[in-house]
This record gives sequence, C-alpha cells and structure tokens, in this order.
Amino acid sequence: MTRLQAAPPRIIRAPRRRPAPYDRATVLARWPECCYCSAPATELDHVHPLAHGGRDRESNVVGVCARDNHAKGAMSLAEWAVTANTDTK
Ligand SMILES: [Zn+2]
Repeated sequence: MTRLQAAPPRIIRAPRRRPAPYDRATVLARWPECCYCSAPATELDHVHPLAHGGRDRESNVVGVCARDNHAKGAMSLAEWAVTANTDTK
C-alpha cells in the first residue's frame, strides 16, 4: 500500500453483552413498588452501579420507578443521598 492509498476501514466490534442472569419480570414481581419512593416499579436499578464495579446479579438489582432510576443514574446510594438532600434546599 502506497502512502496515497486510503487505509482499509477498521472494523471495531462492540463487545457482546451476556444476557442478564436474572429475569426482569421476576425482579419486578419481587419489587412491585419502587424501593426508593414506593411508586409502581417499572425499571430495574443496580443498587451498586455496574459503572462502579457492581455485579450484574439478582442480589444487586431492585425494582424502581423511572424517575428515581434516571435521577440516581450511576451514583451509589451515598452519592445519590447527598444529591437528593441538596436538591431539596
Ligand atoms: Zn421511585
């Protein structure tokens, strides 16, 4: 390949995600209400966030409402508690 030829496109594969080792419906049946505010749970939250080394296992997952799940994001409970306290002031 000469310097004037374009480099072939690089193929970057996204890592394959394994299916969750738990059943979403089972978790929501166990947590029908948001464990943070008791509204109806519609989503699953990793209590110890995956971004901070939390495990993707049923013992780390709870049912939550969309509002709290999005507000908590990848924060730990301690970080989120501080944020929640400053939001109300
Ligand atoms: Zn909630």
